[in-house]
Amino acid sequence: MFRLLLRFLVLLVIFAIIRYLFVAVSKMISQVVNPQASRQEQNQASRSPVGGELKQDPVCGTFVPVATSVKKTINGELVHFCSVACRDKFKVA
Ligand SMILES: [Zn+2]
Repeated sequence: MFRLLLRFLVLLVIFAIIRYLFVAVSKMISQVVNPQASRQEQNQASRSPVGGELKQDPVCGTFVPVATSVKKTINGELVHFCSVACRDKFKVA
């Protein structure tokens, strides 16, 4: 009884590995056959978080989208930074 169960489990694991390999290979083939489609997907993915207004970081000069910027109100004015490091540098300066 136990041996039968073990054999069944081994079969299940082998089946899962074969399925995983099949998915990986088919994904690779679709990228080789149709590289533009995957590139378009990547473009859409990188485009979606960017959008809206861009503000210049006064420390390093990088333009950062308002949605993802590090914000700090200085003298009643909202200032946008690309990172916490830049914000901290501005405080010191
Ligand atoms: Zn910066």
